[in-house]
Amino acid sequence: MSTKPFDVDLFVIGAGSGGVRAGRMAATYGKRVMVAEEYRTGGTCVIRGCVPKKLLVYASRFSEEFEDARGFGWTVPDAQFDWQGLIAAKDKEIARLEAIYARNLASAGAELVKDRAVLKDPHTVHLLKSDRYVTAETILIATGARAFVLEEVEGCELSITSNEAFHLAALPPEIIIVGAGYIAIEFAGIFNGLGSKVMLVHHGEELLRGFDRELRVRMREEMANRGIEVRLTTSLARIEDEAGRRRVTFQDGTQALADVVMFAVGRRPNSLGLGLEHCGVELGERRAVKVDAYSQTTAPNIYAVGDVTNRVNLTPIAIREGAAFAETLYNQNPIAVDHTLIPTAVFGTPEIGTVGLSEEDARKSHARIDIYKTAFRPMKATLSGRRTEMFMKLIVDGETGRVLGCHILGEAAGEMAQIAAIALKMKATKADFDATVALHPSAAEELVLLRSKSS
Ligand code: NDP
Repeated sequence: MSTKPFDVDLFVIGAGSGGVRAGRMAATYGKRVMVAEEYRTGGTCVIRGCVPKKLLVYASRFSEEFEDARGFGWTVPDAQFDWQGLIAAKDKEIARLEAIYARNLASAGAELVKDRAVLKDPHTVHLLKSDRYVTAETILIATGARAFVLEEVEGCELSITSNEAFHLAALPPEIIIVGAGYIAIEFAGIFNGLGSKVMLVHHGEELLRGFDRELRVRMREEMANRGIEVRLTTSLARIEDEAGRRRVTFQDGTQALADVVMFAVGRRPNSLGLGLEHCGVELGERRAVKVDAYSQTTAPNIYAVGDVTNRVNLTPIAIREGAAFAETLYNQNPIAVDHTLIPTAVFGTPEIGTVGLSEEDARKSHARIDIYKTAFRPMKATLSGRRTEMFMKLIVDGETGRVLGCHILGEAAGEMAQIAAIALKMKATKADFDATVALHPSAAEELVLLRSKSS
């Protein structure tokens, strides 16, 4: 029998990417771990984020493939698309992955409870459904973040977020998407590719704030070429029901009609209603849980990882933060996650893959910057006749030659950015890129063939 004063060594709230990784590792290090999840195991990434999104992205890109095939000698009959079939197949795959997540926790020796957990005090968790109290030496908050609609828009309850987009009863013939971040761009590509008429409405002057300016402009142009209507500097005032459809009135008084209005205007940390306020856990901007470099909150035995901390809201970062937490606490191996040079992709169509500084940010932080870039028609487009350009850009420190940023727009950009990130992380210089032999014929070879500075 355990003589330890607590029921468990670690109680994890949230079985998403960060929580599961931390819980599994802690259990592997011999700790008694309980993980509570009120919804489905796997968290946003698996259940209603990265994974189902990427499956829908794949589905949406077949329409271009069918069109392009004609230029390569294929006769392609009019293709039919079955939304319900896609959603059912996607749901089956998600259920399979969910089961794997649960199995992995169990095989590591962690106990998963399907319940809502709320902190009663820094060492006591109240499981609401079963009305049970569990004491823990350490608590890990890994509750993620949630999508929201803009409450200031009258009739906002008639709109959806990405959560519902994964389960629409039918493919909407017309959709208005509000926002211009990852989710908005990705779903605009998905619905456009599947055959919906898409209007993207953004309050700012350009899409994808924070990304390299040229990438943003080119992305917008490529989206417009594919038939997406992009409305910049536009905000919604009102949404009304019109015989089951949605009539949107914009702030400038103009109107549009669509079947679905979807908000993709960011995500809010899930920090409310967890009892954090009774435990000395401070919240910061956007109610994110404040943590130090080791994910420790302002309450000494309470830690937090992933989107609830609003550091870099990406699955691989939550996983790293969860792993670093377990290493630090349970393996005498303190690790502070390095949040620099994180590669990321926007799985729109076309795709963005990027790592490192944008030209604009590099100019602010470095005395001299060299820019190398190219825009070209991808080989596949020569026969398909598709009007599209691939774009690549390297941002180089003019003093040291180090490559500070790599930005790619076009097919497989995400795959390329992942590999380029290794080079950037190793502090590769432009000379290292130049010394690398091109792999021909590929689009990626252009990254090692950029010879002339553009500024
Ligand atoms: P983002 O933060 O990427 O984008 C939010 C968008 O909403 C921005 O265009 C923003 O414009 C706009 N916005 C913010 N507030 C308002 C407002 N009040 N009115 C109108 N527009 C507004 O969030 P997402 O929801 O797209 O995604 C959430 C997070 O999930 C991302 O930050 C990302 O970390 C992660 N994610 C990652 C993916 C990937 O890796 N491929 C895919 C999907 C999500 P502006 O910034 O110009 O104000």
